[in-house]
Amino acid sequence: MHLSLDDLAQLDDAHLQELEERRLRVLSVKLLADLKEAHERLGQNPSNRSRPPSSRAPWEGMAPTEASGEEPAASGRADEAEAGADDPAKDADPTSSRATAPNRAGRRPGTRGHGRTQRLAVHEERHHHPEVCAVCAQALCATHGARLHSAHDVIDRILPSAERTALDVVQIKHLYHARRCGCGHWTHACPGHQGAEDEWTVALRERHLAGPLLVAWICALSRRMRLSRRRIQEFLADWLGLSLGVATINQCLHEAGRAVAPVVEEPLLAEVRASELLHADETRWKEQGKLLWLWVFATATTTVFRLGRRSQDRLHGVLGEVFHGWLMSDGDWAYREYDNRLRCLTHLLRKARGLEESLDCRLQGFGRTLREHLEGVMAGVYAAREGPPPMPLRQQHAAALNALLALCLAQAASSHAKTRALARERLNDWDTFWVVLDHPELPLTNNVAERALRHWVIARRISDGTRNAQGSRVFASLASVIETCRQRGLSPWNYIAEVMTERRQGHPAPILPAAVAA
Ligand SMILES: [Zn+2]
Repeated sequence: MHLSLDDLAQLDDAHLQELEERRLRVLSVKLLADLKEAHERLGQNPSNRSRPPSSRAPWEGMAPTEASGEEPAASGRADEAEAGADDPAKDADPTSSRATAPNRAGRRPGTRGHGRTQRLAVHEERHHHPEVCAVCAQALCATHGARLHSAHDVIDRILPSAERTALDVVQIKHLYHARRCGCGHWTHACPGHQGAEDEWTVALRERHLAGPLLVAWICALSRRMRLSRRRIQEFLADWLGLSLGVATINQCLHEAGRAVAPVVEEPLLAEVRASELLHADETRWKEQGKLLWLWVFATATTTVFRLGRRSQDRLHGVLGEVFHGWLMSDGDWAYREYDNRLRCLTHLLRKARGLEESLDCRLQGFGRTLREHLEGVMAGVYAAREGPPPMPLRQQHAAALNALLALCLAQAASSHAKTRALARERLNDWDTFWVVLDHPELPLTNNVAERALRHWVIARRISDGTRNAQGSRVFASLASVIETCRQRGLSPWNYIAEVMTERRQGHPAPILPAAVAA
């Protein structure tokens, strides 16, 4: 929108009659654009996904997804954020539509909220003035009459420098002024904000108590150090004397998740899709008691996490229907439609060793044979990487593979469940396991993906998963950016702070740089 409510309040018939034609034309262009945008917004509803379900009026009824608890409003809704950054308790405590679900996070309906009571000294004042008239677009300068119309405080970290370390925060007062144009209109400077985005109900705006570096720090404490929101609150109070509500801390995390989401959705996902070698893996995840899967897709320089159901659609959403590179994964059926697949041999080796250690001597035999074959193939691949083998690896291992195939076929009908499963797993992916014989340069294990998951699996044990759909999106987008930055030798925290700064002003997120040369 070009014109704010404040601008519109100043415009009336008399004002228009007095405006000269040139200025009137400038204003007409703005009015027309705003009118079109207003009409488009009137036509929006949750079913065409332009508004979050939480914005639905009470009399509009509940959609089926909402009734099943699919997408409840998370903390920090855009409309509530208007309540003021000085009031963290108000910032993130939606009370409506929450009462139905048991054990919901956040304040219970009817409980009294707490306003912010801590008052810090202001270290610096920053003044913001409008640059051009909102009505006639004439440049404004200091000679135009000015008045202060709003102000808010931002608490932010100070960065350590070469001269000194820094464990400190400062409070900056932002003052917004209005200036009067020759046409008689008062134009207000306003804090920036990001417009509505699908699926996000948390506000992304400059009028916020926590500055970008403080938000990035909270992300580090939560995601890297795996501290709960209460522990972060305790840490900030004990070491900085800074009192922040749990709701504000949660809101900072959600805002950061929303800020970095486009980085994951566009460039990172594109890099994953175009990669020549991709490692994929998944592990169980809980979202408010619902079973989901945490997927990881890792290349040499990019890692993308996703939370969702274990389905073909989910995989298509990340890889597309056709993926041209090599895909290293487990034997899950969702991956099977892709060509150029690889399987982790050490994974299979562990299962073979498990059988070998069983007490049934027939199972021991199958386990031992399988292990010996696998170790033979792996040794052959390692040797081929040192120098060209005397004859092609496939030919070298042909007899052993045939013997193993016969054994697996025989064991596929075994009465022992684990043996049967292992034999069938081998048969289902028979060719995939031996791709490395033709391409010894390809990896033998899926360690890259397993390593990428490890940190977040521990986080899951501590936090017991996420609490709602938005929380899951926050988790996946922050984890993707943090992991990718670390792979590329960049500071995730500086990058998150940069993204926060730009996106709070309504700008696109800055590009995540490619890997730093070693
Ligand atoms: Zn003007």
